[in-house]
Amino acid sequence: MRSAPQFDWWSKPVRNPRDVPLNGLRAIGEVDLHCHSTASDGFVSPTELVAKALSAGLRVVALTDHDTVDGVTEAQAAAAGTGLEIIPGIELSSDSGHNELHILGYFVDQDSSRLNEHSRWCQEKRVDRIGRMCQRLAKLGMPLSFDEVQQLSGAGSVGRPHIARAMIARGYVDSIGDAFNRYIATGRPAFIPRENVSPAQVIAVIKDAHGVAVLAHPLFTTNYERLLPGLREDGLTGLEAYYGEYDQPSRERLASVARRHGLIPTGGSDYHGDGYKAGRSLGSVVVPPSMVNELRNAVRR
Ligand code: AMP
Ligand code: ZN
Ligand code: FE
Ligand code: FE
Repeated sequence: MRSAPQFDWWSKPVRNPRDVPLNGLRAIGEVDLHCHSTASDGFVSPTELVAKALSAGLRVVALTDHDTVDGVTEAQAAAAGTGLEIIPGIELSSDSGHNELHILGYFVDQDSSRLNEHSRWCQEKRVDRIGRMCQRLAKLGMPLSFDEVQQLSGAGSVGRPHIARAMIARGYVDSIGDAFNRYIATGRPAFIPRENVSPAQVIAVIKDAHGVAVLAHPLFTTNYERLLPGLREDGLTGLEAYYGEYDQPSRERLASVARRHGLIPTGGSDYHGDGYKAGRSLGSVVVPPSMVNELRNAVRR
């Protein structure tokens, strides 16, 4: 079991680990529909995530690891009998031109062969891409082996946050934010774009697995609003309005944009671990519980 980080991973190391509030906002809701575990680039195992969710008083949590549903069975087993509902979820990466879109899938059938096939394909591409980013770093004078990175990801989906942590371990950077901002964020010197997968393709994968598709953290996608009519035609059902990093006015504005486009406004923190990044603590959003039922009803349609 990997333990929680002992400092604020995003910015500067600090002595006392604490959740980092965003603009003083520390509202704790009962529903969090965007959480990661060690099945991808989160710091806590699915079992630890459930323990944290229970102590935070959450009632519904969706496990949405990057490109995999591998953690869902463990999370559901850990939550059995506790009254905490674990929604089986996934976060699939896609691109529209040079614009990155993350699509959340909820209530997906974990045994869907198409979903599992897509997931395996993504894992292969991730290994290749992260390996090539390590080579770039070496050329920049920061040797880093893929094995060092993979030791941090274990059997889970390997991703850039694992590179960032390996860079911290090597002493190349002093925080995850530093690694992204200087080297591995889009357009930075060690960045390698992922192989292009369209949003329509990943929405189709989610729908084939009988799930509902939701656009994650829309404000990170340039001109997201222009894309909504097309995405809706592709089968998009919701928009992540109540997102951990967004302030309350942005969340409310996004919720009304969602309604205007016939989409369900959903919400989640994008929890990766305590102290990962400001605003992203578990339950840091207040999502009206009725939205969970709206999503559930959308599955049935
Ligand atoms: P990957 O799937 O390897 O492309 O890595 C994506 C993950 O890295 C996201 O889930 C975020 O947690 C983190 N991430 C991506 N871009 C950034 C960025 N510009 N700044 C900070 N974190 C980022
Ligand atoms: Zn992540
Ligand atoms: Fe994302
Ligand atoms: Fe995420």
